[in-house]
Amino acid sequence: MSSAFCSRCATPMAAATVGGKERPRCPACGFVLWRNPAPVAMALIEHHDKLVLIRRGAAPLAGYWAPPAGYVECGESVPEAVVREAGEECGLRIQLGGLVGVYSQADVDVLIVAYAAHSAGGELRAGDDASEVRLFAAEDLPQQPPPRDGTATDLWLHGVVETTLRYWQHTHA
Ligand SMILES: [Zn+2]
Repeated sequence: MSSAFCSRCATPMAAATVGGKERPRCPACGFVLWRNPAPVAMALIEHHDKLVLIRRGAAPLAGYWAPPAGYVECGESVPEAVVREAGEECGLRIQLGGLVGVYSQADVDVLIVAYAAHSAGGELRAGDDASEVRLFAAEDLPQQPPPRDGTATDLWLHGVVETTLRYWQHTHA
C-alpha cells in the first residue's frame, strides 16, 4: 500500500505526530494512515505420518522449505484461510487441529497464525507460489541455515519456520 498520497483526496501525505507516534497524515483532509500487520495463515499438515513442506518460490525466504502459508483475505476467517492456502499450495484438503502459535515482530509487517492440521483428501502437488512440495519424516526435517543477506522479514520468517518445525518434530517423535 503506497503512503505517498492520501487515499481519500489524493493530496501528498505528510508526517505528523498522531497518538504519540509519527504517522503519515493528509494535510488537506486529515486522513491518517494507520499501518497494521497483515495476518498470514500457516498450516503444519500431517500427511501419511509426515509433514508437508513446500519450497518457497517467492520472497520472503525464497528457496527455503516451509509450511504452506498465505495472507488471510477479507471474507474469510483465519481457519478458512488456512484450509484455502493448503489447497492452493499443496493440493490437499485438510482438517484443522489446534492452534500452534501466533508469531509477530515489531519491525515486520505481517503476523503469522499457525495451525496443526492433517490431510483429508486431495492429491499432493505444488501450486501457487510453491516451487516444490515434499513430505518430511519427523527425524528427517530439513536443516536450513538462516539467510546470509536476508531482510528482517527473511530472518524472522526463518525463525518462525524453525520454531514450528521443532514443534512438529516434538509432537511426532
Ligand atoms: Zn486527504
